[in-house]
Amino acid sequence: MESKIWLSSPHMSGKEQSYINNAFETNWIAPLGPNVNGFESDIQNYLKEDSHVAALSSGTAAIHIGLILLKVGQGDEVICQTKTFSASANPIVYQGATPIFVDSERDTWNMCPEQLEIAIKDRIDKGKKPKAIIAVHLYGMPYNVEEIHHVANTYNIPILEDSAEALGSTYKSVKCGTFGDIAVLSFNGNKIITTSGGGAIVTKNVELKEKAVFLATQARDKAVEYLHSSIGYNYRLSNVLAGIGRGQMEVLDSRVDARRQNFNTYREHLKDIEELQFFDEPEGCFSNRWLSCLLTSSETMRESIRLALEKVNIETRPLWKPMHQQPVFKDAPKYLNGVSDDLFEKGLCLPSGSNLTENEINRVTSAIKTYFRA
Ligand SMILES: *Cc1c(COP(=O)(O)O)cnc(C)c1O
Repeated sequence: MESKIWLSSPHMSGKEQSYINNAFETNWIAPLGPNVNGFESDIQNYLKEDSHVAALSSGTAAIHIGLILLKVGQGDEVICQTKTFSASANPIVYQGATPIFVDSERDTWNMCPEQLEIAIKDRIDKGKKPKAIIAVHLYGMPYNVEEIHHVANTYNIPILEDSAEALGSTYKSVKCGTFGDIAVLSFNGNKIITTSGGGAIVTKNVELKEKAVFLATQARDKAVEYLHSSIGYNYRLSNVLAGIGRGQMEVLDSRVDARRQNFNTYREHLKDIEELQFFDEPEGCFSNRWLSCLLTSSETMRESIRLALEKVNIETRPLWKPMHQQPVFKDAPKYLNGVSDDLFEKGLCLPSGSNLTENEINRVTSAIKTYFRA
């Protein structure tokens, strides 16, 4: 059996180790320290647009803190893109609020502006204005920022921008992670850069960042004794892991190049197979191509390609199963147009790591070609 080709595996640069060593040498083995501060300023310098970053223990924790900063609480409703990973939606429930799922548009696979407006109007008619909107740049493809934010502004509802998969992507040359009232990033093991596990919240002013840090460090009031006037969380990033992040930030741009190259190579090698359709970048969108995605012609075909590749030790994965199809969210209100269901049936993610070799990419494309010749 040939060696396993993973969907998206960690890719260290070699620079991480010296930052980690520094944490050990200075004994900052804690959820604070110079690497945490350094990592935050690295991300701020990268994103610009006057962003203020707090490094947290995960992207999920960042979404949770983000919802708290947007004052989402018991009984509120929060609109969320249905086509996403469950971590976008779970923190809504942590807050005792109800997720309202909204379908995707064809162009970006992300939240459909028309469905969004239909949902907002209907929720208002039913008696409750949604408290926030969670929009996601799935697979690194920016959502339709202009139209989604236009609808949100019309009804004066804040946006939590889930940029967990989209560090390095841009919309009209502006970096993803800078559009929402709050934005979140993830550095989980399979993301474009990783700290093994980690995340960040991006705010538009320093006061909100400080509020996020306060909540993430057990909400300790300014007092010598341990004084608490609100409920806190233990969500800060470890200074050891932030060291990995500092090394990874040095190579982020080259990781984006490599992932985009993967996608282009797949498309070039497989362009003659009529049954496969690659996911183009709409006007104004620059994707980090976190995962290389394609659409097959049917669920049966998607599944048989997946199994054919699994047999030769190549990991692929269907696109995210929409949240409105998940047993845990079966009772949540939803506004659907059929797009996310169709994408889920036909879509497949190919191995996409920035560390894939030319030989590995060739193994993937040959296996797919063999499937269509059989
Ligand atoms: C990975 C991911 C998250 C959660 O990030 P973690 O760091 O794994 O908690 C949230 N949303 C999306 C879209 C993701 O892909």
